[in-house]
Amino acid sequence: MSSAKKHDRLAISTPTEGAAGQTGSWRVFRPVVDKEKCNGCGLCAMYCPDGAIDDDLVVDLRFCKGCGICANECPKKAIAMVREER
Ligand code: SF4
Ligand code: SF4
Repeated sequence: MSSAKKHDRLAISTPTEGAAGQTGSWRVFRPVVDKEKCNGCGLCAMYCPDGAIDDDLVVDLRFCKGCGICANECPKKAIAMVREER
């Protein structure tokens, strides 16, 4: 893992209220991180368009839209997109 400070690897945007704010109940899939596979590289947090992954690599599901970009970009394939229970 690089020696970059935690905040150096985060997206510039941060979650906020507004038109694209909290997700509500429409998300179909949620990301689930396999901590055994994760190497802490932070790419998922950098690519998340909603800034929903914090500097401890925890997904804030209030803002996550379930787009799957984080899972797609993860070099360790450590993120599974799991269908939401209804
Ligand atoms: S991109 Fe994958 S390996 Fe890197 S921090 Fe995120 S979950 Fe872990
Ligand atoms: S599924 Fe999309 S919105 Fe949710 S944490 Fe991953 S990249 Fe961000």
